[in-house]
Formats: sequence, C-alpha cells, structure tokens
Amino acid sequence: MKPAEPTREEFLFFSLPEKLLFYIIVYACLAYFAFQIFDRIKIWRQGKPIDWAVLREGRNYWIPTPDGLQHWIKNVLTYIVGQRKVRSSRPTSGAPMHLMIFYGFLTLFLATTLLAINTYGPVKFHHGTYYLVYEMVADIMGLVFLVGIVWAALRRWTSLAIELETQAIDDPKQLIQRRRWPMSHAASDFWTLGLLFMLGFTGFWLEAARMSAKPEPFDWSAPIGHFWAELQGPMGPLAYKSVWWFHMIWVFIFFCVLPKMRIRHIVMAIASSAGQPDRPMGKLRTITMEEVEQTEQIGAKLPKDLTRWHLMSADACMECGRCTEVCPAWNVGKLLNPKQIVQDVRTAMTAGTELVAEIGEEALWACTTCSACMEACPVLIRHVDVIVDVRRNLVSEGMLSGSGATMLRQTASTSNAWGQASSSREDWMKGLEIPLCRDGGDFEFLFWVGCAGATDPEAVKTTKAVAELLKKAGVKFACLGKEEACTGDPARRLGEEFLFQDKAQQNASVFQKYNVKKVVTACPHCFNSLKNEYGDFGVQMEVFHHTQLFQQLISKGQLLAAKTPKSEVTFHDPCYLGRVNEESDAPRAAFANGVFEPEHARHKTLCCGAGGGRMWMEEPPTQRPSNRRAEELLATGATTVAVGCPFCRIMLGDSLRQARPNEEIRLVDMAELLQEANSDKI
Ligand code: SF4
Ligand code: SF4
Repeated sequence: MKPAEPTREEFLFFSLPEKLLFYIIVYACLAYFAFQIFDRIKIWRQGKPIDWAVLREGRNYWIPTPDGLQHWIKNVLTYIVGQRKVRSSRPTSGAPMHLMIFYGFLTLFLATTLLAINTYGPVKFHHGTYYLVYEMVADIMGLVFLVGIVWAALRRWTSLAIELETQAIDDPKQLIQRRRWPMSHAASDFWTLGLLFMLGFTGFWLEAARMSAKPEPFDWSAPIGHFWAELQGPMGPLAYKSVWWFHMIWVFIFFCVLPKMRIRHIVMAIASSAGQPDRPMGKLRTITMEEVEQTEQIGAKLPKDLTRWHLMSADACMECGRCTEVCPAWNVGKLLNPKQIVQDVRTAMTAGTELVAEIGEEALWACTTCSACMEACPVLIRHVDVIVDVRRNLVSEGMLSGSGATMLRQTASTSNAWGQASSSREDWMKGLEIPLCRDGGDFEFLFWVGCAGATDPEAVKTTKAVAELLKKAGVKFACLGKEEACTGDPARRLGEEFLFQDKAQQNASVFQKYNVKKVVTACPHCFNSLKNEYGDFGVQMEVFHHTQLFQQLISKGQLLAAKTPKSEVTFHDPCYLGRVNEESDAPRAAFANGVFEPEHARHKTLCCGAGGGRMWMEEPPTQRPSNRRAEELLATGATTVAVGCPFCRIMLGDSLRQARPNEEIRLVDMAELLQEANSDKI
C-alpha cells in the first residue's frame, strides 16, 4: 500500500454548525479589535498633520508617497523584522528574551497565515515535504516562544521583588521611586504574559490532541507535539474538540484585549517604525511664523499640538524601559524618566490634559537632548521632539527663569551664549596670523570657532590647535571673527525657537556674503546645527567636524596621527558626534595606537550633561551626569582623557578633578594630541 502523503485535515471531526459557530465568534472578536483600533486612530487624529514626506494625507486616509513607501519598507525590515534596536541593546535589558518571543510569535503568526491561505485559497500546498518542514519549524519556534515567555515572567518577578524591597527601605518616596524604575509593573503585565503562555501552551496541546485522536506515520515532524501525544495516549473526537475550543478561547481573548494592553505594540510598532519622521536624529522641527499666527501659540501645550505620528508612536511604546536605562538624567537620580514621558503623552492624549501637567516641569528641564533614549527605542519614538516642543511652549509663556533664561538673554544681546562681546571672538587670534573672511583672501574651509571655542580658556586651546594643524596641513581656511554669531543651538534646545531662527538667519546671510561652501568646526553642537538644521534657512554647504577633516588629512599624509600608547588614553565620544551624527571612526583615526574604550562608547556614549542648554543651568553636585561619566572614563585606567567637544571638556574638567584630586589626569581635545604629534612639522 502506498504510504499516506504528509498533510493534515482542517476542522477535524467538526460538523457544519460547529464551524459556523467558530466563524461567528472569530469575526465578532476581529470586529471588536478593529473597533478599538479605530477608537485610537480618532485620538491620534487630534494631532497636527505630519511634516515629512512619508505620507500623503487625505481627509480620512493616509497613503504613502513613492519615497515614503521605500522608507516604510526599509524601516519595517530593519527595525521590526530585523529587530535592530533590540539586538543592539544590552542583554541585561532582556534583549535575548524579547528576540525569542518575537521570532517565536512571528513564526507562529506566519504558520497560521499560511494555513489559512491553504484552507481558503484555491491552491492546496499544505502537504508533502513542505508540510514536514512547516511542522518542524513551527514546533521548534513554538518552544522558543514559550521559553521566552517563561523567561520574561521570571525576569519581571525578580525585578518586582527587588523594587518592593527597595521601596520598603525608602517608603516615604515610594511614588517617586516607582516613577523612576525603568521596568514598571502593572497587574496587566502578568496577565499579558499569562495570556501569551496559554496561547503557546494550548497550541502544543492541540497539536498533541490531533496526533492522539488521529495518529499519522509522519507525526515525528512535530517532535514536541509528538512527544506529548505519546505521553497522553489515544484521544476520542469529543476530547479532541474540547481541546480545540479551549485553545480558541485564548485566541479570542487575545484579539479582544490586544489593543488595551501593552502587547498592542505587536501592531503599533509596525506603524510607528514605518512612519517615523525621515529626518536626522539631530534635526528639530522648524516652527514657522504662519503656524504661530494660526495657532496663536508656540510649541506644544496640548497633545493636539504634537503630530499624529508622535501621538501614535506613544501608543506603540512597549514599556521596555530601554530609554530610561540609558538616560543620563535618570541615572543620576533626576525626576526625568523618558519612558514615563511617553506614558504621560498617552495619558494626556486620552484625557485631553496639558502635556506639562502630566510630564512635570522638573522632568522637562532636566533633559540634555543627548538622544540616548531615541537611539535605544525599539519602536523609534522621538522623545526629544516632544520634550523640546513642550519646552518651547513653556519658554513662550515665560516659564523659564534662572541661569537658563540668562543664557538666552545673553545670546540675544551679544550673539554669544556666555555674554561675551562680539569683538572678543578675535582675542584668541592675537599673534597667530589667522586669516579672516573679511580680508578677502581665498579659502576652502570656513573655520567655525563657536562661542566656547572663542572665549572659554580651555576651549581656546583646542581652537588654537585646530588653526595650527590646518596651517601645517596646508589647508586654506579663514575665520569670521566678530562676524560669527552663536549658531543658536543651546537656545533652540532650551525652547527659544525664534532666537535660534534669528541667529541662523544672521549666520546664513554671512555664509552667503562670503560664498561659504565648506565649514569645519571643533564643536559637535555647532556641527549638528550647521549640518542638519541650517538647510531650513537656505544654507547649502559641506560641514565637517574637525576630527573628520583630520582623518582625511592623516590618510593623505598631510598630518601625523598621535602616537600616545593605547593604555594611556581613552576617548569620550560627544553625544552630538558619536550618537546623533553617527561619527565615531574619525576621532579614533587620530590615534595611531588606538584608545582604551570606556564602557559606553561610540553611538552608545554616555552624556556629560551639557547638551540641551543644561550647560548653563544649575546642577546639584550630587546629580551631575559628568561625575558618572568621569568615573567611567577613569575606570579604563587611562591617564589622558581625550575629547572632541568644548562642552564635554568644560563639564568633565570639574568632575575629573573632583574624582581624582591628587592625581594628574590630563584632559585634552584630540586636536591638541595631534598638535603635539605634528610639532616638528614645518
Ligand atoms: S535625550 Fe537624553 S537626557 Fe533627554 S530624556 Fe533622552 S536620554 Fe534622557
Ligand atoms: S519609549 Fe521606546 S525604549 Fe522607552 S519604554 Fe517605550 S518602547 Fe521602550
């Protein structure tokens, strides 16, 4: 007799009324699922239309533009299917567990979809070798999924136990402590894990029941189900159908509760990743005067002032806490918790309350805009957009006082964030024969010095080193001197949008006057603004961080790399270079022997605490992000800390002295190490 071809019969032993009952229930559950999603869409639609070219918005629909479609597909493949952010996060953040659950779930979802296509479609392919492979893969990935769920439950349970123990020690601050934990706990989280476990567990039981009720010679292709079937022995049709309905009850529950629980990210994360603004991490939205006239306000006060994508992305949050784990402000005990900010946006958009009332002013001002949260977020939420937009509204309503407000006044009156007169921008040049644009000579590069580079005594050392190296390498450059104004970066990130725009326009007209095509700067904040944000003001030029230009000059033999022994030197990546602008190779090219890497390096670097205008704001000595970073840099054992940013240099200087008052720790910009290496060069 010819052996039976491997396949399976759907709705085994089911009568027509039983099948009809199934279809009625499943369609009712799907309708309820869709109803809940549409309810959320109504809430998202209170937001502003999006300001990037991914979607073409009609009155009641969103359809992708051709470029947008490419962006959608790329993001979904990279961040959802490829799980890029989760894979690159630390194992302690639960990455392996999440990957097991995700790929297990994805395989089971695809397996169910293929089964449905075979059952209801015209082509029947669920047999033969394909069927054997299908069964084997689904079986193994089902086990991977279940192990991931058990792992997640144990991890959550352990974290809760630690949290409860901590709160018992510090009971009066219980609420704040709770707010500060990266992993928050709600009863629904345990229910969710229970539901996912029951989906997987009853799925295996159903498979085993089918094999017990109708054994086949090819059942070995699903080894776990087969093993279970062997254990439980033969089963009659009624028992099999009972197990079938028991499994389906969990499927029905899953569809009904999905939009209500945090596992909604299974669906929302796809939309969030696909529609993420197609603009650089370091570019903030430019507000127009027309917008201000129309809305009669600046920035975001209510959720409706954020874009629809920003509101939708808050619903995609999986509450994993990765953003909070990496937040420099949270890590030094501040009230800022980026994960909580996302939950606060959700609360505000559902309740229609003011954003600042939910988030809290203290948390909003604590942000350094380092973007570590955005870099870590698996569903591509842009926390900094929201924080700065709410800051803009606070600043416009006069809610910023103290040294932050002083910095804004100084920038407005002197075009220097430290309040130095424009003429002082040329003090560092004395005796150095620095070419100035106004002298009319030819130049290839404009050397953009920046407020700190021109006036801070430590940063001036970097400026002089850069100028000397450019000369030695034969680069034709010129400076603007007193014609240079602050880029406006600190003002923009602190929320004073129109002061930034004023400075950007002022600088843009000077660039135009001198026909500037290439710029080099030693300040990553200026670098980011000039490169990513000045385009909105008609500026078209190539912008280089000094490390990038030096990398080119070293590779062409125009400069020598520093020969400092690797064991002596470590490099601190500035957030606005290593992470925001993804440049971490160029600074390392300056060290012939390499550098000792600190725990957080390159795009995972740890913020010094100066960005987002924090440089000018009061900081309690116990809550300085720079202290934490200094300890980490010193832990490498290096005696020289190299930086590539004047802000980092200022912040780390105090912290290194405080951490090692009796040791000689050298803090230098890498340009100074290159200056030493090239001292013999004429
Ligand atoms: S940008 Fe940096 S400081 Fe601000 S919330 Fe994100 S991680 Fe925290
Ligand atoms: S915002 Fe992103 S990183 Fe933070 S908890 Fe939500 S999903 Fe995780």
